[in-house]
Amino acid sequence: MSIHLLKDLISQSSNIVFFGGAGVSTESNIPDFRSEQGIYNTKNKYGYPPEVILSHTFFIRHTEIFYDFYKTTMIYKDAKPNKAHLALAALERQGKLKAVITQNIDGLHQMAGSKNVLELHGSIHRNYCMKCAEKYSLDYILNSQDIIPKCSKCGGTIKPDVVLYEENLDMNVLEKSIEYISKAEVLIVGGTSLTVYPAAGLIDYYKGDKLVLLNKSSTPYDRRASIVINDRIGKVMEEAVN
Ligand code: ZN
Repeated sequence: MSIHLLKDLISQSSNIVFFGGAGVSTESNIPDFRSEQGIYNTKNKYGYPPEVILSHTFFIRHTEIFYDFYKTTMIYKDAKPNKAHLALAALERQGKLKAVITQNIDGLHQMAGSKNVLELHGSIHRNYCMKCAEKYSLDYILNSQDIIPKCSKCGGTIKPDVVLYEENLDMNVLEKSIEYISKAEVLIVGGTSLTVYPAAGLIDYYKGDKLVLLNKSSTPYDRRASIVINDRIGKVMEEAVN
């Protein structure tokens, strides 16, 4: 029943914004790093908690361990967009969806064909030299002979354009996200429990009365939403769009 309501909302609006979390990518077999089964809760061989390894200080001090962990647990090079990514790309082509705002770093929305994607936590597909700012692809990082990828121009260390712990979000991306959310008619929030910064704070900028929550479990915002669907997001979005 709720899916029909969502279908109606989508068909009647041309100002939809989507805000997504890790749950959007789990159906592409990328683990939710914060879930109970996620890597944050698995013991690792490094002897440091993942939150420590994925911090700015650790990157600077133990770059080798960072890269070993990063390449083996954060990169899913063969992951493909799922039904949720494809449905959102279709909505953008139809002129109904204004922006995808994501906390994921996997680039799957762009792979599905979405053009206006705001990546709050950066992307594994962008990497740059810390000395001369030269840009590098994900392949360059993965194919590097050394564990730490080095700039071919100046020999500097290359850093992924991914927001690490202790680092600030890109203000430009954050401001654009706030603008889209505050102007949206329909806000669809998917694959996030809305308990972790900055997700929860961003939703507060939404002023409309058509908030849709798609998540496997309940969220603190359920009572504020017009539609809550606790089901697989790929299935829900495919049905709602077609
Ligand atoms: Zn360089």
